[in-house]
Amino acid sequence: MDQQPGQTLDGPGSGPGPETRCGFPGCFRPRVQRSGPGAGRPPKYCEDPAHNRGTAKRERERQDRIAAQAVAAAAAQELPTAAAAAAHSESVLGLVDRVGTEVAHLLDQLQRAAARIEELEKENARLTARLDSARAGEQAGEAGK
Ligand SMILES: [Zn+2]
Repeated sequence: MDQQPGQTLDGPGSGPGPETRCGFPGCFRPRVQRSGPGAGRPPKYCEDPAHNRGTAKRERERQDRIAAQAVAAAAAQELPTAAAAAAHSESVLGLVDRVGTEVAHLLDQLQRAAARIEELEKENARLTARLDSARAGEQAGEAGK
């Protein structure tokens, strides 16, 4: 056996650095040390027989699923906010639509008012002209006396 005594450390802070740590997620025990020629690639896991490439992969997938569920739960909590934002933008669009209708109505009234002013100006000019000719006739009559 190439196991070394005194390597049953567990928990963060008390184990070896990441370079020599067991590759199983959450395991802080040191990797099994193998030395000498012909030993092949050094093991990436500790002496725990449950810690190997297959179980580490499954454990990482399990943790990924938990993380994905947490993200999904967080997204679900944000959903009402998104719905509220959508409803808000709809009400803003409705408001813009109403304002547009109101502006069109006011423009129509403004055009009618402008047409009425033009009419009144013409009427005023006609009355002024009549008044002027009447005065001119009056002056002519007075001058003829
Ligand atoms: Zn381990």
